[in-house]
Formats: sequence, structure tokens, C-alpha cells
Amino acid sequence: MRPGQGCHRAPAAHTAARRPEDGNATLDMPKVLIVEDETILLDLLAKHLESEGYSVITATSGDEGLEVARREQPDICVLDVMLPGLDGLSLCRILRRESDMAIILLTARAGEIDRVIGLDNGADDYVVKPFSLPELTARIRAALRRTPKRMESQLHAGDVHLDMVSRRVYLGDKEIKLSHKEFELLATLMRNKGAVLSREFLITQVWGYDFEGDVRTVDVHVRWLREKIEKDPSRPEHLQTVRGVGYRID
Ligand code: CA
Repeated sequence: MRPGQGCHRAPAAHTAARRPEDGNATLDMPKVLIVEDETILLDLLAKHLESEGYSVITATSGDEGLEVARREQPDICVLDVMLPGLDGLSLCRILRRESDMAIILLTARAGEIDRVIGLDNGADDYVVKPFSLPELTARIRAALRRTPKRMESQLHAGDVHLDMVSRRVYLGDKEIKLSHKEFELLATLMRNKGAVLSREFLITQVWGYDFEGDVRTVDVHVRWLREKIEKDPSRPEHLQTVRGVGYRID
């Protein structure tokens, strides 16, 4: 399988639940971080997205972008690839490792190579310069629809229930004990319920980009997980293998 192919996120219905702390309407404004060193373009994008109802924060270098992203925890990052200092693709990899925020790359170059490189580095989408403002806004809306809410603390799949706060997992009423990696793997699958996730995507999400082991590590952990959450691990009801693509939880 080609890298970057299998990262399909959950459909919109999955994200409909409100974050628990959303008591007040202003918190529902998605927060967008724009990282772009061309200040004229940066100002134009910021004004446009504010007029569209987004809460906008900005940075003009990769290093500043990383600092602002860590501090402000935006819902989505619009990230120029060519940046001084820490470049856009490197920043993209770091952000993807640290968070579930949606990431849209701004690139000056079109073509398959860039698409694969961008998506392989964890971006959700990319827009080729020059682009129109409505096009970017449409991509942002689509990426936000696909991105699960970071703060979603209760995840369900059939009779499997996962509490992200206490890090407890239940099968029906019964608590089951998972190792750290099993928990992270299950949480990643459940945050993307219904979507097929590639082994490569699961490796980067659970083990990190610098993991040097084999992608079959995923298969081993899936087997262990099935022994804990499936009635009959040889005929899984929850954790499905999608041959040639990866895994999906229903
Ligand atoms: Ca640039």
C-alpha cells in the first residue's frame, strides 16, 4: 500500500457531539491558526476567515507556529510549506504527532509528488497557490467536518465504551484492562469510528513518527485487542480487518 493512503476520517455525524465545556456560544467558533511568512497574504487570510466567523490566530515562522499551536490548541492549522526556520512539512509532522487538529498545507507547487509528501506528513488536505478565498474556506469547512473533536472524552463502538479521562475501557458493564499501546490503538480507531485506518497511519498515531519497528506491530496489537474486546476473536464484531487497506472499528 502506498503511504498516506489510508487516513480516512470519520464522517460528520461522528463529530456532532458538543464538547462538554461548550457552555457558551463563542467557544463554538472554530479556532484557526494561520502560519504564513508572506504578511500581505497572512493579513488577507486572517481578515477573510474572521469575516467567516472563525477565531483567527497567526504566526509568521514555523518555530512561532509551533509555539502558538501548543499554547492555543487551534482546531485547524493553515500551514504554508515554505517557511523560514522550521519548514511547513516538519511543523506538520510535529503537530500531527501532538494533536488531532486538522491541517491544511498551502503549497506553491502542484502535482502528485507534493500531494503524497504532504499527506504522508500528516496533512488533511492541501491548497495550491494561487487559490481563491472561497476555495480555502470550503477546504477548511470540510477538514473541520472530518476532524473529531479533541475533547471528546467518551467514545463508544457497540458495547465497547472508552473513557478518555479516566482511561478506562468497558465491555458492556465489565471493565477490561488494556496496556498503554492497546489503549491508544483502540482510542485512535474509536475516534475514527467507521473509517478504515492504514497500518502506517496507526503507527504514526500510536507509536509516533520515529518508530522504527515493523508495521506488523499493529497486527500483533490488534490480535491482543481482539482477545480482550471480542466475544470470538476469530470472528470479530467490532475490530474489522479491511484487506489490503487496514483496520476499522464499527
Ligand atoms: Ca512562504
